Amino acid sequence: MPSNFIDVADIWVHGGKGGDGCVSFHREKFVAAGGPDGGDGGRGGSIVFVADDNLSTLMDFRYKRRYAAPEAENGRAACQSGKGGADLVIRVPRGTVLKEFDSGLVVADLTGSEPLVVAKGGRGGWGNAHFATPTRQIPKFAKPGLPGEEIHLRLELKVIADVGLIGFPNVGKSTLISIISAAKPKIANYHFTTLTPVLGVVSVGPEQSFVCADIPGLIEGAAEGVGLGHDFLRHVERCRLLLHVVDVSGCEGRDPVQDFEQINKELAGFSAELSGRPQIVLGNKCDIATPEQIADFRAYIEGQGLTFLPISAATRQGVDGLPRLVYDRLKALPPVKVFAPEYSRPDPALLPSRPFQVKKNAPHEFTVEAPWLERILAGTNVEDYESLQYFQTQLGDSGLLDELVRQGVEENDTIKIGEYEFDYVY
Ligand code: GDP
Ligand code: MG
Repeated sequence: MPSNFIDVADIWVHGGKGGDGCVSFHREKFVAAGGPDGGDGGRGGSIVFVADDNLSTLMDFRYKRRYAAPEAENGRAACQSGKGGADLVIRVPRGTVLKEFDSGLVVADLTGSEPLVVAKGGRGGWGNAHFATPTRQIPKFAKPGLPGEEIHLRLELKVIADVGLIGFPNVGKSTLISIISAAKPKIANYHFTTLTPVLGVVSVGPEQSFVCADIPGLIEGAAEGVGLGHDFLRHVERCRLLLHVVDVSGCEGRDPVQDFEQINKELAGFSAELSGRPQIVLGNKCDIATPEQIADFRAYIEGQGLTFLPISAATRQGVDGLPRLVYDRLKALPPVKVFAPEYSRPDPALLPSRPFQVKKNAPHEFTVEAPWLERILAGTNVEDYESLQYFQTQLGDSGLLDELVRQGVEENDTIKIGEYEFDYVY
């Protein structure tokens, strides 16, 4: 079963880190101590998705699964801002739905032409030039750049078609799409035929057409215990109307009513919504069926309140009126389903990666307990700006600064961390 067609993938995407703000002081001849002039860090690159009509499979994502947008440059002296990171554009076939991997919630549906930002790059940090205040002429602090957003995604390709052909293997779906459209699917008298959805444009009249999809795989291999091919059903999720093809002749020793019911059971098992989609039932292979077989099946289908059309894809009997019938039925149906975004990013402040405790001891005095931070401090030269900047980054990333702010820290409050004491100068 050779197939390069891949319609699901899971990948990780990361926005680029923002550049750190710079700590620097302006120096001039005859000026003993110039003002702070550290520039801001740039914004990290974002991850952007674009729908591309030249792609038809998610195969590439099987080989490369991690995508990181470029980081931004740090700020520099003389108030020079760092350059932002470039966005990383990821191209996917039109109709790809992005979901958050763990929750399965929809992040975005790539049907339009608009590029979609899925993971933003981190904001750049402020250089110390921002922190010059009348009371504190020499601010030593700069804000670190923030990390970019990251998300584990599941990509699902759902083809864009108005009408989906469903039914057991070998009932004549591929034959039918080949005669009502220009699509050229494989037609064979054995199971496991087509494994990629085949799309065909069916034209009805001037500027009147619809897109029909032949969905392979449904129930293929069921008898062999290979599985029911549920996965392919995602391709009919956007279809407004299903053409349910049944072999009324029972030429393969099967019963058309049982076939019809089993396919509907599969649909219901996949999604209640899909099983409620309108259906037109096509009784195929009428050329080799007896009039009684056709009449019995018609009575059964019409008894369910559904439209029944006896056809023969092989002889084209009854097929000529099909495109018009489908087109008129489509006109009355609501537009193609859009997968509305449901996912909202958790607040990073609520997910501390490094544990800490902040206590307010007295007015303007806080104690921070965080053994990991004390270890970093022990290796930090507080007189060395670069070293101090690393320390600052840790403070920001862990959420500790946010917690201090939440507890009402003010300019020049004292912060005790182990045996160290700092002034808070944000
Ligand atoms: P699919 O698996 O549903 O796509 O079925 P195919 O279109 O590949 O057809 C399976 C077999 O049934 C092929 O050998 C076709 O030639 C044959 N077939 C399709 N439609 C008809 C029909 O209306 N009458 C007869 N006698 N054979 C048909
Ligand atoms: Mg087929």
